[in-house]
Amino acid sequence: MSREPLIGPESDPQNDDLRLRPKRIAEMVGQRDVIERLEIAIEAAQRRGEVLGHVLFDGPPGLGKTTFALCIPEELGVPVELLSGPSLKAPKDLVPSLTNLQKRQVLFIDEIHRVPKAVEEYLYTAMEDFRIDLILGEGISARTHSFRLQPFTLIGATTRSGMLTGPLRDRFQIHEHLGFYTISELTEIVTRNASKLKIEIEPEAAAELARRSRSTPRIANNRLRWVRDYAESRADGVITMSVAHDALAMAEIDELGLDRQDRHYLDTLIRVCGGGPTGVETIAATMNTSSDTLTDEVEPFLLRSELILRTPRGRRATSRAFQHLDLQPPPSGYDGPTLFD
Ligand code: ADP
Repeated sequence: MSREPLIGPESDPQNDDLRLRPKRIAEMVGQRDVIERLEIAIEAAQRRGEVLGHVLFDGPPGLGKTTFALCIPEELGVPVELLSGPSLKAPKDLVPSLTNLQKRQVLFIDEIHRVPKAVEEYLYTAMEDFRIDLILGEGISARTHSFRLQPFTLIGATTRSGMLTGPLRDRFQIHEHLGFYTISELTEIVTRNASKLKIEIEPEAAAELARRSRSTPRIANNRLRWVRDYAESRADGVITMSVAHDALAMAEIDELGLDRQDRHYLDTLIRVCGGGPTGVETIAATMNTSSDTLTDEVEPFLLRSELILRTPRGRRATSRAFQHLDLQPPPSGYDGPTLFD
């Protein structure tokens, strides 16, 4: 089936993102346990006419933390204010958002592990007592005033819950970890989103895209968009299995769904570092990238796929990684000792 190519705002990736992101919790695919617990907490808060407890989402990038955080105010029928951890340099950066909160509103802080200590401490009383201290005036005439806030729900998202201090983590009543998605869940996301993007996709091609999306909805969406572009420009606008194969090959996405950066990581660990154990800083310096990028975006899926191991002495490639790069695996027993490093 051929169709008109999309032009103008409809083909804008940001616009696509908005169209593909579920708006309500019931539209979310997978994460059944998380959804059920959130629905119970939201319903209970609404029945009692109380504010929903603070919620912390953690997990690797692209698994739905922001999507959940934006669905919750939608369910509660309240506004949401979006902040990002790195932009909050000092407590004063939080003051306008906190003092302007409406009753039961949601305040979302993305990358909350990156707020400085002073901002984190300022959040303690805001979260616990819905109160902050404001310093009015300057110099010797400066006075501290206690300011009462509207009851609100703080939603934090983090890729590194281990970097949050105990006192901050303990102030979240609801703590949800988002795990990787199954192939059938990703197939459902790809199929649904192909229809939102008005592109025809064969079921086997949807499953193939899902299989090669590193268990992550954001990557599934990105791959779908690329394959759609390819189908429109190089084929007759339908994503068949062979169109999907050709498009993914052109984007250098391999059988396991690894991209160039993932393979560069494995190649560095194996060829340059002899398979490890090697510290992530060394791998990052050799690859000329940041260790945060590797820890947040590359390693979680490689660990999950058993291509690398994290040991106290550093990262190690498994024999599966050697095989994947078509390299001679080390002598048998190689993986075993790493467990006792
Ligand atoms: P994170 O905040 O964890 O980095 P996002 O919430 O931004 O991830 O998710 C990235 C994209 O993946 C979203 O725009 C949405 O389209 C899609 N997505 C994430 N989780 C789901 C889900 N459970 N069901 C359907 N689509 C999802």
